Amino acid sequence: MPTYLCRACGTQYPPSEEPPGACPICEDPRQYIPHDTGQAWLTFDELRDEHSAEIKEDNGILGIGCTPRFAIGQRALLVKSNAGNVLWDCIAYLDDEIVQRISAEGGLAAIAISHPHYYATMVEWAHAFACPILIHESDRKWALRPDPAIRPWHGETHDLGGGLTLIRCGGHYDGSQVLHCRDRSALLTGDTVHVIPDRRYVGFMYSYPNVIPLPASKVQAIGAALEPYAFETIYGAWWGSVVERDGSGVVRRSVDRYVRAVTDPGLAS
Ligand SMILES: [Zn+2]
Ligand SMILES: [Zn+2]
Repeated sequence: MPTYLCRACGTQYPPSEEPPGACPICEDPRQYIPHDTGQAWLTFDELRDEHSAEIKEDNGILGIGCTPRFAIGQRALLVKSNAGNVLWDCIAYLDDEIVQRISAEGGLAAIAISHPHYYATMVEWAHAFACPILIHESDRKWALRPDPAIRPWHGETHDLGGGLTLIRCGGHYDGSQVLHCRDRSALLTGDTVHVIPDRRYVGFMYSYPNVIPLPASKVQAIGAALEPYAFETIYGAWWGSVVERDGSGVVRRSVDRYVRAVTDPGLAS
């Protein structure tokens, strides 16, 4: 039986003869249903026919994407540690070339995904590499293809070993998480902490496509969750979206700038 994926967000649904009736991820205010095509679907096989793998270094970490770009267009990152390899974030596209390359690099100990927009075909990946998927408990309702490989974690941080720590930041989604890599002095953020064009700041939003901001308290909470961690480099969700230096300082200054921007000075007493 085929599996269908939403063309707009890349989410894969359980096997079915017919496409699902709707994509809850895209009906949510943080995504959208394209005005020109409406809700559109393709099968996993069609995705594989229409695209090919793109595997290349992105600022010193092996990135995995596909060409032409599909859905939201994020790339995944293969993070190595002495506790095993972690795939950070996920993409919908998966083929033999990717499986062989990652296997040659030592396979995967786990997949960890920032938030539901990148759940994609995470279950296909987990089956291909016989590994668990680590998402935050708060977002488990958005895992729309249930599978025993999905292992929600509870609390505010989750130690993966090898200097890798998942940190729940919240904000964009309640369970939005980032990955701190101590030995690389790096923070992998998806779009929980959004790398913006000038690389001197980062951004924070409830909905990026619909331009709905977060309240100041939620952005301050992201800053507080990251305050204990030092990092130079910030890897965002797309190819080349990387802050190369002073990442901790960039986050601190960006939280301050954001809070000033959304706080109405007319309300100050
Ligand atoms: Zn969708
Ligand atoms: Zn998102």
